[in-house]
Amino acid sequence: RRAYTITLIPGDGIGQEVVPAAERLLRETGLPLEMHYAEAGWDTFQKVGKSVPDETLERVKASDATLAGAFTSPSGSQKVPGFQGAIRYLRRTLDLFANLRPTKSRPIPGSMKNVDMLMVRENTQGLYVEQERRYGDVAIADCVITKGASERIAKVALKEAQRRRRKLAVIHKANVLPLTTGLFLETALEAAKAFPEVETYDIIVDAAAMKLVRDPQSFDVLVTTNLFGDILSDLMAGLVGGLGLAPSANIGERTAIFEPVHGSAPDIAGKGVANPAATFLTAAMMLDYLGEAATAKRIDRAVDTVLEEGPRTADLGGKADTEEFTDAVIEAFRSLAPHEAA
Ligand code: NAD
Ligand code: MN
Repeated sequence: RRAYTITLIPGDGIGQEVVPAAERLLRETGLPLEMHYAEAGWDTFQKVGKSVPDETLERVKASDATLAGAFTSPSGSQKVPGFQGAIRYLRRTLDLFANLRPTKSRPIPGSMKNVDMLMVRENTQGLYVEQERRYGDVAIADCVITKGASERIAKVALKEAQRRRRKLAVIHKANVLPLTTGLFLETALEAAKAFPEVETYDIIVDAAAMKLVRDPQSFDVLVTTNLFGDILSDLMAGLVGGLGLAPSANIGERTAIFEPVHGSAPDIAGKGVANPAATFLTAAMMLDYLGEAATAKRIDRAVDTVLEEGPRTADLGGKADTEEFTDAVIEAFRSLAPHEAA
């Protein structure tokens, strides 16, 4: 079997702690993973004047997948000459157009039960083309939606729905903005015709926000434009215990970058107490993307076992540090027979 080439980018802050922890867990899988470390982020920018050095970009391009930790964007970064946030730069340069954010109930206090849904967020357009202008007391932002980008994200969502419970919610605001979000809606519904086994329906974003809070169990896959997806996916994470457990993927035609949703947590960085669970679940998503679904499920189960039985990290009310939690997950992973994980 051919080895998978994996780039590991710890990045800033607690990224330096949670990514090496994930590397330990990945080594435990016994899969043929060829892992290399690379640099990016704010610290890298301060050292070499670029948040993503060319060498890192080349490594990521040549890899089957990349696992990233977190990247600091100092506030007011727009004013730091030449600085561009590492993850936004990578998403754009590599055209990682699909942002996948799964939300699943976890066995911790504060998580709603029986939730299992997936946000598929368009990652390149909408208001995030960052074309803003200011004329005195008037400010204008462009919102770009194309048929091509809407179609390719809808197809990703439809394929994900096929492997799940075959339901797809297309989220929009076409009643108020029929040309932009309307084009997205129309294109997604058109693409759905080629997937008759997927039950596709549309829902207006504000109604979707309320339904996500009151009845999240009714959702399977959701697809939407960039800004709506950004906001709703954080809301979704909040239903099951917060950002500390939320994984995500940025997927393009040729490669993909996987990252926990949380940031670099400067308040706890360097203390060895960060919760690596989100990064473990992110590593599991990466293995699933590589075609190693059974091992991915086994990691997911191992994390749930430790979340339920302890020891838990401080953010979840426990006393374990990063290393103790990692040891426990590795132990749980070992004791789950591969077939039990399915
Ligand atoms: P944050 O996610 O870094 O931290 C928010 C709070 O959650 C903090 O109290 C932190 O200690 C805690 N926390 C986060 N992850 C944790 C973990 N794994 N274990 C235990 N506690 C955890 O968000 P922030 O404070 O708003 O941002 C800090 C920096 O991270 C900023 O520079 C921001 O730009 C950056 N950021 C990066 C990303 C990313 O790389 N995708 C995402 C969000 C924020
Ligand atoms: Mn966000």
